[in-house]
Amino acid sequence: MRLEELIFTYAEAMKARYGRRVFRVGLSTGIECPHRAKGGCIFCNPDSFRGNYQTQDNSLEKQLYIGKAIIRKHCDAERFIAYFQDETSTAGEPEMLKALFKTAAADPEVVELVVSTRPDYVNEEILTILQGLVKPVRLELGLQSIHDRSLNYLNRGHSFADCEKAVKMCRRFSISVGVHLIMGIPGETLSDMIETVQWVSAQKEIVEIKFHNLVIYKGTRLAEMWNNGEVTQMPVEEYIELLSEIIPFIRKDIILSRLFTSNILHNDLAVDQVNGNKTKWLNALRLRLEKKNYYQGIMNPSPYHFVRTSDG
Ligand code: SF4
Repeated sequence: MRLEELIFTYAEAMKARYGRRVFRVGLSTGIECPHRAKGGCIFCNPDSFRGNYQTQDNSLEKQLYIGKAIIRKHCDAERFIAYFQDETSTAGEPEMLKALFKTAAADPEVVELVVSTRPDYVNEEILTILQGLVKPVRLELGLQSIHDRSLNYLNRGHSFADCEKAVKMCRRFSISVGVHLIMGIPGETLSDMIETVQWVSAQKEIVEIKFHNLVIYKGTRLAEMWNNGEVTQMPVEEYIELLSEIIPFIRKDIILSRLFTSNILHNDLAVDQVNGNKTKWLNALRLRLEKKNYYQGIMNPSPYHFVRTSDG
């Protein structure tokens, strides 16, 4: 079986929506994440998710131009998603952000916008701006887990209540939501992780999940913790096993657009125990799901019904 027959992939979703592949161009507002001044998240290494052209020296038009040209070196791309992926893309002066989002939306090759941010930086003013754009827009939230003890462990600086509030606000503004989730946070059990995807599945406006394994990048607080023997790097095989147990609980129409921390450059890792590459990992996941006769949604027949069983 192909992986696409077992899970709802980004490529399949784009093909269904546009009849062909659509490529994400990473963009930056140029504003540093405000949470970094408070210590930042223990896993965050900004260089791991930023292209070289996404700098303050480049205007948004120039970032779009360079980003699209880089993609076109590898394929015949015609349609793009303007992806404000860098830092916290709703932090900043609203009029300045509005001008940037409008510039991206005005590009005739851009079909959608995705704006990534933290739950505590979602507010009515920003949502009003996004709602007023001429192209569809999705807000991408760093949710990571529904368990406050895990959010504290990661030094996220916000609570699960902030996530719930942000998602509810998006519901009122009819803005769809994508979420980032980390699977394998130290201290979380498999049932904790399943509970997180069950909550996510119960939120109608959440249409996309990006999964991450907790990779230890150089220069992060997590790397210091690893040096002090306070944390270990989960082997990728164990992470794949976890994913195969979690995927059956996810609502079947949620796009799983990422399954592994992307763009891993082995030189950037403090602990290079992330053997192999994405193709190999995806194949291993496919085989694992196939062997267990699992697929997305098989264990979640009533996805909109969520009852919390953990104490948070
Ligand atoms: S909120 Fe995002 S950008 Fe800011 S420190 Fe955390 S992971 Fe990094």
